[in-house]
Amino acid sequence: MIEEIIPNLYRAEIPLPKSPLKWLNSYIVKGGDRFLIIDTGFNREECLNEMNATVQKLGVDLNKTDIFVTHLHVDHMGLTGTLAQDSSKVYFNAPEAKQINAQRENWTDYWQKLMDVYVANGFPADTVRNSMESHPAHKYGLKRKVDFTIVKDGDVIDIGDFHFKCVSTSGHSPGHTSLYEPNKKILVAGDHILFDITPNIAYWLEMGDSLGEYLANLDKVDALDVNLVLTGHRRLVHDLHGRVRELKEHHRARLDEVLAALDGRDLNALQIAPHIKWDITARTWEEFPPPQKWFAFGETMAHVIYLEKRGKVRRNSPNGKAVYSLA
Ligand SMILES: [Zn+2]
Repeated sequence: MIEEIIPNLYRAEIPLPKSPLKWLNSYIVKGGDRFLIIDTGFNREECLNEMNATVQKLGVDLNKTDIFVTHLHVDHMGLTGTLAQDSSKVYFNAPEAKQINAQRENWTDYWQKLMDVYVANGFPADTVRNSMESHPAHKYGLKRKVDFTIVKDGDVIDIGDFHFKCVSTSGHSPGHTSLYEPNKKILVAGDHILFDITPNIAYWLEMGDSLGEYLANLDKVDALDVNLVLTGHRRLVHDLHGRVRELKEHHRARLDEVLAALDGRDLNALQIAPHIKWDITARTWEEFPPPQKWFAFGETMAHVIYLEKRGKVRRNSPNGKAVYSLA
């Protein structure tokens, strides 16, 4: 599926098999002598086939194409190593370029560190190991090392009629970067703003307060003059202010659920998670499929840490385990 959004800017739906996200919105910009692809899909056949068909239909020459990656998640960057040619620039943020290269060098070491934190917070070690091995990052990541062109907040990428300003929007991931085109009033938002689903805010070794950063960066984009938000998945957003308000309310409600769970009790993050209303079809926490448990657990941690940083929740560490109570 290809849709022309405005002249020379197209959206392609790249299927994400078995993912609840269903598809990735990849954006293709025609700039006369060069092309720009924003986000790419998993490094797997279904995504590559759709991307090849798209490129062909739009008359895009990959030898004249640069790629912009909003963030390190494999549904956005997985195919980058396959699509990028020797002449391509691959624009990417510094913290995640560093993280991707570290993971390439030692995947096990990287995940072990994350696993230790999860286990200290109550996640069962064998479930963590399963989630780690079946994690899409392991299976559908970059097929080769990519030489990134690092972009930072405020940098401008010129392509034909378009002048995209990089806007650092960390929170969903440590270096998540959106693109703002002020003349066309368009924000390419990756997974910072989504329409009918809420972006997953997880625990990260690289971010001390991912939810705090996320909420601050919702305000940051809310201050921009935007008529259309090009989202990373599902439908586009026309009312940025309204959607920012909804997303903030969503997290406010989750924070309240964490506080209610801790009322009169000391709990670890695993014990807090079932008290949160998750938007999935499983009836009980026990029925959550392992990957969904992993995401829900990380999201719980992000909310608990947010409250801890603001003095609402206290962390106690009996014998290396993390248990939380109301402050
Ligand atoms: Zn993502």
